[in-house]
Amino acid sequence: MSDTSRVAATLADGRELIYFYDDTSRAVPPPPDLRPLPPRSDLIELRRDPLRGEWVSITAQRNDRTFLPDAAECPLCPSRDGRLSEIPASDYDVVAFENRFPSFAVPPADEPDPGPVDGQELFARRPGAGRCEVLAFSSDHDGSFAGLPARRVKTIIKAWVDRTAALSALPGVQQVYCFENRGAEIGVTLHHPHGQIYAYPLLPPRTAQVLDATREHKERTGGDLFADILKAETTAGTRVVLTGEHWTAFVPAAARWPFELHLFPHRQVGAFPELTDAERDELAEVYPRLLRACDDYYGTPLPYVAGWHQAPRGAEDSYRLHLELFSVQRAKGKLKFLAGSESGMAVWINDVLPETVAERLREVLK
Ligand SMILES: [Zn+2]
Repeated sequence: MSDTSRVAATLADGRELIYFYDDTSRAVPPPPDLRPLPPRSDLIELRRDPLRGEWVSITAQRNDRTFLPDAAECPLCPSRDGRLSEIPASDYDVVAFENRFPSFAVPPADEPDPGPVDGQELFARRPGAGRCEVLAFSSDHDGSFAGLPARRVKTIIKAWVDRTAALSALPGVQQVYCFENRGAEIGVTLHHPHGQIYAYPLLPPRTAQVLDATREHKERTGGDLFADILKAETTAGTRVVLTGEHWTAFVPAAARWPFELHLFPHRQVGAFPELTDAERDELAEVYPRLLRACDDYYGTPLPYVAGWHQAPRGAEDSYRLHLELFSVQRAKGKLKFLAGSESGMAVWINDVLPETVAERLREVLK
């Protein structure tokens, strides 16, 4: 049976767009995109840093992307009153579409292999294949994820499930990352409530590090590292913020950021598509509740990065889906900057005790 609360469309330059509705009665036929858009010109390449063994996406055209537009110019507001945006419909619930300024995109089939940079074998280069999507959470420009009702959060979860399944199946994609950057302090270029989905054509260094840690823990103890962290946090209890039937939120013992919050499912789940209905339902209630506590933490909207880490290709049984949310805000009106030690050496210095963060979060959690 096809899902009639999901409607696919194509934008004027050929990009894919999908509407997700809270219920089937809200679904409408997709209107055409009437904008005269220029053809896509995704000049993206991956260059390998030989010292670090890491790939960097070089995307010069992204520097021209839209930066903090007024509501009247917002590309994520619906198209109405004669103004055409990225979303052709005059209203919507949740919509996913391919980013016009992607960091990764599948190159044309006839694109020649660029070869190494300057012909130097040390400087490996390959096309920045992969995909970047935008996920608009609401048609309300001034809304926030924390303010969404559980019914809408369920639709967003449905979109994460749908896009994770579709993007994971693309050739060469190694990991699908759903995330939200919130607040100008984080570098958000659009205020309209939205997240992004990156389908990486490489194993992100952070994920590779975690995979190594899970393997090493398994060899040493025979245990599952994610399950054992959850057990240790629950036993200690000092950093636990919330425990549900299916999810537990806690501040990690060795938090890097002055504000950091993790949310783990209670059983091994590799990615969004594996969640049961009961797990999705509880997440739809728990997640916005945690986000509201984040905003109540300092009494002002918290700038944050909320990243959903999912199992990379081939590690579905050992890498657990989980949320890592962090903020650069270290006190009211004060930001933490990644300075010499963090930026230069990846050695983190946190001025705030994780137990204090958890205690304060428990106080403001409603
Ligand atoms: Zn908007």
